[in-house]
Amino acid sequence: MNLLQDDFISTTVGKISLKTILTSNKEYQLQYYFDEIQLSMLQLLSSLTTVVLAPTIIELKEYIRGGLSVDQYDKACERLELDWFDTHKFMRSKPLSTSAKWADAPITKLLSGIECGSSSSAIGLFSDAEAAKVVCPDCTPGLNYNLHMNIKGECFGPTGATGIRGGGAISTLIAGHNLKTTLLSNTIAIDYFKKITVLDDDAEDTPMWVTPQSGSVYQAGRIGLVRGLFALAYHIDFDVKDAPCCCDVCGHHSDQSVVNFRRQKYTGHYGSTKNGRDAGAGWWPHPFTPRSIKDDGAEYAVCARDRSWQSWQELSGYIIGKEMNKANVIPAYIVNQYMHMENPLKTNLLVGGNIANQGSIIGRIYDLYSMPASLTKYLSRVTLVIDVGLQKKERLSNALNKIFGVGYDKSFVGGIKEKAIQQFTANAQQIIQQTLLDVDRKEASELRKAAIEALNKEAKKIFLNVQRQYQHDMPLFKALVRGEVLLYKK
Ligand SMILES: [Zn+2]
Repeated sequence: MNLLQDDFISTTVGKISLKTILTSNKEYQLQYYFDEIQLSMLQLLSSLTTVVLAPTIIELKEYIRGGLSVDQYDKACERLELDWFDTHKFMRSKPLSTSAKWADAPITKLLSGIECGSSSSAIGLFSDAEAAKVVCPDCTPGLNYNLHMNIKGECFGPTGATGIRGGGAISTLIAGHNLKTTLLSNTIAIDYFKKITVLDDDAEDTPMWVTPQSGSVYQAGRIGLVRGLFALAYHIDFDVKDAPCCCDVCGHHSDQSVVNFRRQKYTGHYGSTKNGRDAGAGWWPHPFTPRSIKDDGAEYAVCARDRSWQSWQELSGYIIGKEMNKANVIPAYIVNQYMHMENPLKTNLLVGGNIANQGSIIGRIYDLYSMPASLTKYLSRVTLVIDVGLQKKERLSNALNKIFGVGYDKSFVGGIKEKAIQQFTANAQQIIQQTLLDVDRKEASELRKAAIEALNKEAKKIFLNVQRQYQHDMPLFKALVRGEVLLYKK
């Protein structure tokens, strides 16, 4: 089966090929039961489209505007080594030495991208773990890709290696009005990528399963675009059995099934790990990952770490960059490319990923934000809405801080505050998403007013709930009355 030619992509109307999606005018929808696999497939398919089209930014704009023909697709494939993208080769390198041990694991562990290791904190979070035990061979490339783009060494314990993006990185993608425009909008324009990233001119660009990595440090500048898009951290093998199944990931029937995979880690380090950073490997500019640059210059993938994390709080960082928690958050390349293209179509920004805590996944993110057609033009309106949200959160926090002054146990009052703030942050997520729907229809002042009204109402509701809960506790109640003034201060 070939990823550039054959029907392996699960949609609501059956399995189809990348060529069909890109060259037809029908509307297709991906069908995968787990949103993380959906997210992983969007990135995998956009990266494959980059391989096929390798467009300049001018060509890419044309494809997004007018689509492409079957002829154009076939011609583009003629210059490629198609067999690199056969499933038995794709992202499946072979170890040089046959003596090293392969570790076996059930396929379930590829779903979260993080294996359930032996440590007590290393558990996967599944919608229903029991519901994903067997998959069809067509779904294995997506699962393998998901593993490699999410894996963090500690999740595999002593046998772990970390991938090129680091563990559990957040992804930001452009979501078009249908699957075709989504894939094209996340296709990398090779000339623009080259211009704004600093890879070596003679960087190796064959995939790692063709030319394996060597050495103990994987220098970022030496890794070309295609090589990096499908970078490996493990040799992977799947046992395909001639037993029919109904796939737990895509829901389609298949004559063959896969229940296990085997892995053997790479021994070198990317700049996404401490060892790699210390050895000067540098950060590979993964096009879908926002970065965080610390004061000392060290770069990290943006990750979501705690349960109360909500993507709206960092949205300004993802689209224009912002200083947050003593680090500069820089947008993913794909967002820069989108702004540079002045895309004529209205689009959404998809923020997705896992909320990870050491080896565990404690939550998932899959948020869509409405973006105006000309994001550059309306940028300030988007950040204005986010800023209103952050200010409101700060006000609520200040108002609640009064309860620390009544002499009660710190962890008790801290718990009251944390719960209220978490609730506000979670509820504000929807309010912000809703408000941004109007970003190119409403004037800035109107938009600001709408955001302030909705968020004020939310903060007030939460604050009143706390007040009501402690109305019979005089010291707390009085402190809250004093705090109230801060909440409503103009
Ligand atoms: Zn499947």
